[in-house]
Amino acid sequence: MERTIRVRFAPSPTGPLHIGGVRTALYNYLLARKYQGQFVLRIEDTDQNRFVPGAEKYILDTLQWLGIEPDEGPQQGGPFGPYRQSERKDIYQEYAQRLVQKGKAYYAFDTPEELDAMRERLEAAKIASPQYNAISREWMKNSLTLPQEEVSSRLHSGEPYVVRFKMPHKETIRFYDQVRGWVKVETATLDDKVLIKSDGMATYHLANVVDDYLMQTTHVIRGEEWLPSAPLHILLYQYFGWEQVMPQFVHLPILLKPEGHGKLSKRDADIHGFPIFPIGWHDPITKNYTPGFREKGYLPEALINFLALLGWSPGNNQELFSKEELVDAFSIERIGKSGVKFDIQKANWFNQQYIRKKSDQALASYLVVELEKNHIPYDIQQVQRVCHLLKERATFPQDFWIEGQVLFQPPATYDIDAIQKKWTPRLHYALENFVPILQNLTSFAADKIKEALITFLNEQEIKLNEMMPVIRIALMGKTAGPDLMQSMEIIGQTEAVNRIKAALETIEISRS
Ligand code: GLU
Repeated sequence: MERTIRVRFAPSPTGPLHIGGVRTALYNYLLARKYQGQFVLRIEDTDQNRFVPGAEKYILDTLQWLGIEPDEGPQQGGPFGPYRQSERKDIYQEYAQRLVQKGKAYYAFDTPEELDAMRERLEAAKIASPQYNAISREWMKNSLTLPQEEVSSRLHSGEPYVVRFKMPHKETIRFYDQVRGWVKVETATLDDKVLIKSDGMATYHLANVVDDYLMQTTHVIRGEEWLPSAPLHILLYQYFGWEQVMPQFVHLPILLKPEGHGKLSKRDADIHGFPIFPIGWHDPITKNYTPGFREKGYLPEALINFLALLGWSPGNNQELFSKEELVDAFSIERIGKSGVKFDIQKANWFNQQYIRKKSDQALASYLVVELEKNHIPYDIQQVQRVCHLLKERATFPQDFWIEGQVLFQPPATYDIDAIQKKWTPRLHYALENFVPILQNLTSFAADKIKEALITFLNEQEIKLNEMMPVIRIALMGKTAGPDLMQSMEIIGQTEAVNRIKAALETIEISRS
C-alpha cells in the first residue's frame, strides 16, 4: 500500500533554532511538497528543565519568514494532535505500560546516590563506558531484580520510579538509512535508556517513536547527531509490533566549520562574524539580543536556496533554484553523507543574485524606510532609479542606503586620504573651469554630461581617469561608488553644481 508522505520537523523549544535545524525543516518541507504529502511541526517539549520561553514562537516565526510553514502543528492543529508533546503525557504512559507488560521495559527505583555509586563502582573496575545496561541492571533496584511484591508495594506507596528500556544483551541491530545505507550496531554497546522519568513524563526516545507512529510519519529526516539514537528507536518499533509502518530514516550530513573540519558552532559563527540563527533572538535569561540572517539582510529565498544545496545536490551545475524548482528537483537519493562546509561567502553570493532579481520598485521600499527615518525628502521615481543604479553592487538591502544616501544628500565629510592622493591644484582649477560648462548644459542626461566632460578634458589635456576621482570626491566625498555619470544625472544639475562648488571651497581651504 502506498502511504501518503508524512514528514515532521520536531524541534525541542530549548532556544533559538540553529541554521542546521532550519535546513532539516527545509528538507522535510521539500519532500512533503514534492509528493503532495504533509509537513508536520511537532514541538518536543518533554524536558521541562530545558524549556525556554519564547522558543516555540521563535520556531513558528522562522518557518513563517521562510515560507516553509507546516500543514499540521500546534498553530494549525490537525487530525493527529495535540502537536506539543507536553500535552500528550497520558498517551506515552499507556505505551510505556504496554512495553512493561511485554517484558521490554521495567520499573527502576534507584536513587540518584545509588546511580552515582554504580557509576563509581564501574569506573573503579575500569569499565570503559559505565552505564545502566544489561549487565549492571542486575545489581540495581528494579522490577527485574526485586521480588514482585516489593515492586508492587513500592509502586503503590508512591515511591519515585522511572521506566527503563530493557536493552537486549547481545544482539545486532541492522537498519537501513537512506543516506548512509546499512548501519549495524551491537546492543552490547547500548544502555537501558529511561523512557518515563520520575515526574511521569516521557523522555525524547519514547515520545518521538510513539508520536511518529501515531502521526503516521513515513520519513524521519533529521540531523546526523540523532543517528546514535536510531537503534533504540528501531527496537521500539519492533517491540511495539510496528515494523510494517516504520518510517524510513534519513540522517542529514553534519554542517562543518568554514575551515572544513569540526561541527559548526555558534562560536565559529561569532568568530567569523556571520549569523547562526535564522532570525533575531532575544534571550529571555541573559536579555541579550543576537541578530539572525533576517536582520543581517539575507533574503528568505536566498537563504532557502543556499541551505538546500548544503547537503543536497541536483546532479548538475544549476545553482539558482526557486522554491518551486527545489520542490521539483529535490530527492533523498541526492543527499550526500559527508559533512558540508558552511561557506558564508556562498550565502552572500546567493543574496546578491536574489537582490538582482528584485524589481526596482521592490528594492525601493528598503531605501524609503531609511529616507523616512532620516527625514530626507524623496521622489519615488528617483528612489527607484537609485536602486536600479546600485543593484549590481549590492549584496544586502542595507547596501542601498549605505551606498545610496549620498545621492540624496551631500556628503558629510570628504575622504582625506583620497584628497591627498588624487586632488592636485591643477585638477582643482580644471574643476573650477568645468562648473560653468555643467551649469550651461541643456540636458543633464548621463551621456550628455560625459560628452561635455570628455570635450573639456581633451582641451585641457587631462586624462579622464585623473579627473573622475576628483569629481567623485566633490560630489560624494569618496572615490568609490556607482557609475559617476549616472549618479550625476540622479543628483541633478543644480545640486551637482552646488556640491562641486562647496567641495572646491572646502577642499581649497583645507589645502591652503
Ligand atoms: N527533538 C529532537 C530535536 O530537537 C528531534 C530529533 C528527531 O527529529 O527525531 O532535534
